[in-house]
Amino acid sequence: MMARVTMLQPRVVTVDTSIARPPPKTALPFYSSPDWIALRNAERVAAKGICRRPGCGKRGFIVDHIVEIRDGGAPLDARNVELLCSSHHVLKTNAVRADRQAGRLAPKGGGPSNL
Ligand SMILES: [Zn+2]
Repeated sequence: MMARVTMLQPRVVTVDTSIARPPPKTALPFYSSPDWIALRNAERVAAKGICRRPGCGKRGFIVDHIVEIRDGGAPLDARNVELLCSSHHVLKTNAVRADRQAGRLAPKGGGPSNL
């Protein structure tokens, strides 16, 4: 005798989210300023093009503010920037975002909201 297996219909409705996109991120004028470009280039040279996170060793692509400007970090202080690979930039950004959403970072009100 064979057991009969009946598949249940899914109870969760799937939604096509492919048409729901955030607005395009626009570069702020700050990131085109000669002072920022000079600082960014200096950090890339100082880091020899390698991600600053210990043990990473990947090519760095993003010069990131250690303390984000919106959290009160100095925009043009060489001690507040580090070259990161894409992976470490995402990890760092997500951690900061989680801290901010949990209220562990209070906005200082100085910088634009999407830095
Ligand atoms: Zn890295």
